[in-house]
Amino acid sequence: MSRELHHLPDASHAWHELPTERVSELLATDLHAGLAAAEVGSRQKKFGPNRLTFKKGRSEWMRFLLQFHQPLLYVLLAASVITAVLGEWVDASVIFGVVFLNAIVGYVQEARAEKAISALAQMVVTATTVRRDGRRQRVPSETLVPGDVVLLESGDKVPADLRLFEVRDLQVDESALTGESVPVAKHGNVLALDTILAERGNLAFAGTLVTYGRAEGVVWATGDRTEMGRIAWLISEATDLSTPLTRKIAHFSGIMLWTILALAVATFALGLWRGESAFAMFMAAVALAVGAIPEGLPAAVTITLAIGVSRMARRRAIIRKLPAVETLGSTTVICSDKTGTLTENQMTVQAVFAGASVCTVSGGGYEPRGEFLDAAARRVDPARRAALMECLRAGLLCNDAQLVHAKDRWTVQGDPTEAALIVVAEKAGLAHAAAVEALPRLDAIPFESEHQYMATLHDCGERGHVIYIKGAVERLLDRCTDALDNSGAPAEIDRESLRRTADELAARGLRVLAFARHLAPREQRRLAHRHVAGGLTFLGLQGMIDPPRAQAMAAVRQCQQAGIAVKMITGDHLLTAEAIARRIGLAGASARFAVSGRDLERLNDEQLADVAAEAAVFARVAPEQKLRLMRALQSRDNVVAMTGDGVNDAPALKQADIGIAMGITGTDVAKGAADMILTDDNFASIEAAVEEGRNVFDNLTKFIVWTLPTNLGEGLVILAAIVAGVALPALPVQILWINMMTALLLGLTLVFEPKERNLMQRPPRDPQRPILTFALFMRTGFVSLILLAGAFGLFLWEQTRGATLAEARTIVVNTIVVVDIFYLFNCRSLRGSTLSVGFFSNPWVLWGSAAMLAAQLALTYMPVMNRLFHTAPITAEAWLHILGVGLAAYAAVGTEKWIRARAAQRRSQA
Ligand code: ATP
Repeated sequence: MSRELHHLPDASHAWHELPTERVSELLATDLHAGLAAAEVGSRQKKFGPNRLTFKKGRSEWMRFLLQFHQPLLYVLLAASVITAVLGEWVDASVIFGVVFLNAIVGYVQEARAEKAISALAQMVVTATTVRRDGRRQRVPSETLVPGDVVLLESGDKVPADLRLFEVRDLQVDESALTGESVPVAKHGNVLALDTILAERGNLAFAGTLVTYGRAEGVVWATGDRTEMGRIAWLISEATDLSTPLTRKIAHFSGIMLWTILALAVATFALGLWRGESAFAMFMAAVALAVGAIPEGLPAAVTITLAIGVSRMARRRAIIRKLPAVETLGSTTVICSDKTGTLTENQMTVQAVFAGASVCTVSGGGYEPRGEFLDAAARRVDPARRAALMECLRAGLLCNDAQLVHAKDRWTVQGDPTEAALIVVAEKAGLAHAAAVEALPRLDAIPFESEHQYMATLHDCGERGHVIYIKGAVERLLDRCTDALDNSGAPAEIDRESLRRTADELAARGLRVLAFARHLAPREQRRLAHRHVAGGLTFLGLQGMIDPPRAQAMAAVRQCQQAGIAVKMITGDHLLTAEAIARRIGLAGASARFAVSGRDLERLNDEQLADVAAEAAVFARVAPEQKLRLMRALQSRDNVVAMTGDGVNDAPALKQADIGIAMGITGTDVAKGAADMILTDDNFASIEAAVEEGRNVFDNLTKFIVWTLPTNLGEGLVILAAIVAGVALPALPVQILWINMMTALLLGLTLVFEPKERNLMQRPPRDPQRPILTFALFMRTGFVSLILLAGAFGLFLWEQTRGATLAEARTIVVNTIVVVDIFYLFNCRSLRGSTLSVGFFSNPWVLWGSAAMLAAQLALTYMPVMNRLFHTAPITAEAWLHILGVGLAAYAAVGTEKWIRARAAQRRSQA
């Protein structure tokens, strides 16, 4: 039993040069039973959680200061300094105040987005298999303490620094630590003291990945004390918020900035040449620059993406890499696993073939109660059929699952395929515990997708040893040289007839496993692949049902309506896969609806691309073939999302435009390679994520279409005034006010716009298509012209009617804002009318508009605001004019949309 460990042995202990007994002594642990629960608790208190304490990439101050690191803000800061030098203190401080406010808003938003995204990453808890209190258990990796005994298998992330023992073909990818991507083989032997770190083959380091094999290891360092912890200062936690889209927009903003600055300089020069004062012209140039640059754009993009990420998380899709949010909206093909994703992964054996006949088995779920019936539906006593019992016993023993009965519910631990084999054996009266005790396991070859079988070696006492093997029918049949007859005696094998039986079961949608055994000499204690390469005795077949998920069927239909092709890629048999695919609704018109991995092997790249496009089911696909399939689909300009869970899926997940790992059944390796993780392993969550991805793009487009006319319109108003040689219709501080306030109170509310009804009836977005299509570009121009005519027109007209300059400017500011509010409602749907999306469906828009109006009233009527922003109270009549312009703008855009919609309808009818 474990004893207490008060402090860690001296860190200079060279664990690689100590024999395992000494290691276990130093760490006060028992390598066979592991630690006792109480001791784990007390060590946790002493050593803390097994977690790296990341150092923040940048200090908070630095992050705040970086907010000022934008070309636009340099322009504004310079303007503020020059205005101050010119003695305009109020203007200077208003400009500076706005810049400061902008930095605060940017800082807060960015921090929130980063926090949300890094919090999501932590939602995916990694679990580790340990031995504690003499039992195997799955525990969160954070709970590990020095002395814990960890069981590693392929796909695991090594959870702490371990000294290995009981190593079986272990290979570890240590690239996270050493940069070397070729996996290294590990062993349990003692090494010389002076062995360098990279060559300490009997140690496994936290953060590295097991790519093959199994091993046991004892923890000697956790958390920051691990090798990874020592270099953790190299890894900062900073989440990268940039994506292809944000970079494109940053680039676009950059171009705009220089164009506008050039225009501003030209304005300045023109004015001077005309003989205007340098001060007035400087103000005009600043107003132009400030007005025309869309300063809210980059922040809005980041916020929209971050909101998309959290909405997806609520629908059980965790985004690991931000660009995936954008890509999801353009997905054209989803390649999904079958088991657990499209189906329930709730296996129940329904048919057993042994001897020469098939029995059906009644009962559902994991409750071990049911009956065996023959072809004529008569009850069969399994105990009287030796071959049947031997086939069931093989399934029971060649098995790593556990059936758990708690609170009147039967659940399983481990692989549901294997659990089903325990349930059916118990239905026949074979008790799991008793069988394991009677024939103790000596060794095992675990199931790996690439071999498609599993084997175990058992001690039968006096009678010698026996090997039980179970796996795919094709893998086992050719290795069998005889078969058990009804009485349980070895007889000649008829492979053809067995294949036919297996196909009949598979065609019913059952997953079929074959069973075989091999007698082994008493001295054999180890099991290798060569021991089961031939000479086996065939025992029988078991067929299990795995019902399709109801949600998945609905989601598949949704995807098809949305123009997204759904393809099933599975390791299962062709006929099983095909039957399930039909039930799920994947069947197409194509003759080549389902193909097998062996067929794919024969095709060249060009042919493969054809088949990949046409077929919907790919069965018995080896993990390496997934990568080829992926490339074939991408060669036809598809944007492909693909699921995967095993170690060998990692390359395909990386190649996919969106790699999706399973949160429950996926290996750590697959999760590490994925862009997105499904917390419920359900296909429906992929569809949900695509939907959210499309919405993110929609809302971004809405924001951009809304914001650009404001900037363009303001720029045009200033330019018109300069060309006409009249006073500025709006001062720089007023324009700053409009831009900042409308972006915050109006524009950002579009980010919360709910999904439009036809979102999943449209075809996927072409990633090459620009955000601003020609139609939207025209609309932007059109609204800018309305702004120009309305604002500049009122500015001149109100002055002829006796308004002062300050009043006329106040009217201009209010006109721009009111048009912005009306246009905001236009932008709630890009194609449909405002009413089509429901007037109240986005309360943010309503609250934002109300707040904006209140702010305008304050700007117009509060003396302090009048002083700060050079505004003046205006008459009720002026408000009527302003309202008129707003309504006209709303009606004009509404009409434009209506005409376009009609034209589109005519085209589609034609
Ligand atoms: P997918 O999630 O892609 O549908 P799958 O479960 O169909 O995956 P694999 O898990 O790779 O594919 O299984 C492939 C084949 O290996 C199965 O059809 C079955 O014949 C066999 N097999 C599956 N699980 C086991 C197991 N635990 N032991 C032995 N053989 C197995």
